[in-house]
Amino acid sequence: MPFLSSAHRQVIETITQIEQTPFFIYDLDALLAHLKPLTEQSVVKLWYAVKANPLSKILQTLDKAGFDFDVASSGELNQVLAQGVCPSRVLNTGPAKSKRQIQHFLSQGVRTFVAESHNQVAWLNQAAMDHDVQLRVLLRVQLRWPEGEKNPLGGDSLTPFGLGTAQWQSLDINTFSALDFVGLHIFQWGNMLSTQKLASLWSQMVPPLSQLADSLGFKLRILDLGGGLGIPYAKDECALAWPQLIDALATIKASSGVEELWMELGRFAVGECGHYINPVVEQKQNYGEQQLIVAGGINHILRPAVTNQAFPCTLLRESNAEQRNYLLHGPLCTALDHLGTHTLPSDINEYDWLVFSQCGAYGFTESMPYFLCHELPAEYVIEQGLVKCIRPSQMASEYLR
Ligand SMILES: *Cc1c(COP(=O)(O)O)cnc(C)c1O
Repeated sequence: MPFLSSAHRQVIETITQIEQTPFFIYDLDALLAHLKPLTEQSVVKLWYAVKANPLSKILQTLDKAGFDFDVASSGELNQVLAQGVCPSRVLNTGPAKSKRQIQHFLSQGVRTFVAESHNQVAWLNQAAMDHDVQLRVLLRVQLRWPEGEKNPLGGDSLTPFGLGTAQWQSLDINTFSALDFVGLHIFQWGNMLSTQKLASLWSQMVPPLSQLADSLGFKLRILDLGGGLGIPYAKDECALAWPQLIDALATIKASSGVEELWMELGRFAVGECGHYINPVVEQKQNYGEQQLIVAGGINHILRPAVTNQAFPCTLLRESNAEQRNYLLHGPLCTALDHLGTHTLPSDINEYDWLVFSQCGAYGFTESMPYFLCHELPAEYVIEQGLVKCIRPSQMASEYLR
């Protein structure tokens, strides 16, 4: 399957007749069709990791498909609640839960939290007592493997997400009367495309986590495996098959003996539904290489610069010209602003548009929009076959103060 279908190509061509600057488009019809089967099973409860794409229309589509919502800031919470979602369907994860943010979440009615530190546990308990409510809490665990043993995560780098099992050991759960410790959360991998690797990772997590729950003195009722399901960003990569994942998850659920398995999906849920469309400014030759300078760069899609993985790119116009390799550069005055090396037709010129695909997740809101005062990209959706602009482009004069 090509990353850009001919139906999407047509819709995008129509929009480029009125837009002059870069824009995103999300196909909500395709998104709903993709999401529906994900929730039609009884093995794993699915939350949507809002950070992947917080656009109102995207959240509404996840809601329709039966997802609940994982948020990591007051801003994300407000955006979810503004779509009419009940706060009982919200889970709060994230390394920075200030007393002030916890206060806001409780006052808005959120009752389910992933705690990532001893302070968070204490602050959640205090806030819950102040509000006279009971909270469901999962502890976030960061695992390491002993020196010399096979490390399924391939590294021992320290992150701020959760605590090691040794650090959690000293928690006396009986001192937190307003908290119901229901489970553990673990998520230390990203963009995985192999069900086998995921299954092996998950299965190696079960013994240390069961042991931790035992020694802390609570029954492991819920195991939350986070996200990390990948999508293809290159033609030769193969998409994950949901039925196989469900089989693997069912095995984990049985072996861990938990009542509920949870995941928060970001990339796998929405990554494939979006394109980013970008005008070409010029083509030039430099030290034997062809360079394409494009209007939008890491101010609109930062991810290639921080992960070194490009979004797949297609010329919007169909061309039979022979293909060549190009280095793609955005408009920012920093060498960081590169969008990868791509094979594209040799006749690209200043009237052309490039389409970057698989941009539904970790696109615009992960970026650095204000640097160099360019326009903010518009965001379009296709909904029930109709094209709508949800957020028009903004010029710097509209956002600078
Ligand atoms: C970002 C995040 C996710 C989503 O990750 P994906 O790999 O995009 O599915 C899930 N859980 C938590 C806690 C996260 O921070």
